[in-house]
Amino acid sequence: MIPSFGLENKVVLVTGGSRGIGAAIVSLLLDLGSKVAYTYRSHDDSQIGTMAIPADVTNAAAMAVVTQQVEEKLGPIYGIVANAGITRDNFFPKLTPADWDAVVDTNLKGVYNTLIPIIPKMYKRRSGSVVCMSSISGERGNIGQTNYAASKAAIIGFTKSLAQEAARYEVRVNAIAPGFIKTDMLNPVPEKVKQQILSEIPLSRFGKPEEVAWSIAFLLSPIASSYITGSVLRVNGGHYT
Ligand code: NDP
Repeated sequence: MIPSFGLENKVVLVTGGSRGIGAAIVSLLLDLGSKVAYTYRSHDDSQIGTMAIPADVTNAAAMAVVTQQVEEKLGPIYGIVANAGITRDNFFPKLTPADWDAVVDTNLKGVYNTLIPIIPKMYKRRSGSVVCMSSISGERGNIGQTNYAASKAAIIGFTKSLAQEAARYEVRVNAIAPGFIKTDMLNPVPEKVKQQILSEIPLSRFGKPEEVAWSIAFLLSPIASSYITGSVLRVNGGHYT
């Protein structure tokens, strides 16, 4: 039997849970006995036993409704995984305002839209654990990703600030900074660039979504990470510089 991390019967909302890392955490949380709700934008591959809600994280009103629906159906939300994110890569001189806005609106404002309806409720209940999705690109930068890296670096500042505010209410806020993980997000990266990246990773392979999911479960856990807040957990195969 796998350990439940104290997450059994806890209600957890995952944004962007239809594919990739989000789908892996949804699946793991189900195995751990959590009550799982997730959002997606367009691609629904509903996992049995979950509450799947079409809602764009860039739509503040829709995200407020999500909180209401999840709490009505499953109960008070204990955990949030602010996972939904996109890339629109290009060299800076070619980066259009639309590509800048889409990435910042989704990866940064989307986290605000997700959390703002729930955080006050968590404060009142003096219970909650939030995991925000950053990236290795937000820590070290990456060619072709000025927009994405800016949004993911901002998530680190956001997480550390909210963690300090939320601590007095016994709510924890942490970030995950995955390295390069095998999901659809890697598809647009040219093969030559992938080989270059692989040569820089001490573990000599890309990560699996499940490997990120376990780290998220750890940070959500009221047992395993109860004294951890405001931290950034790197899940990157040793790929730092
Ligand atoms: P995928 O592209 O595989 O999946 C993205 C998920 O986010 C999908 O479920 C998608 O829904 C959803 N999504 C995208 N935009 C929105 C939106 N506006 N509203 C709601 N849902 C949305 O990405 P990954 O699983 O690879 O990435 C997940 C997170 O991890 C992202 O924040 C990403 O930046 C981060 N990350 C990923 C890394 C990687 O190498 N893969 C590395 C570091 C960080 P739909 O299916 O409907 O489109």
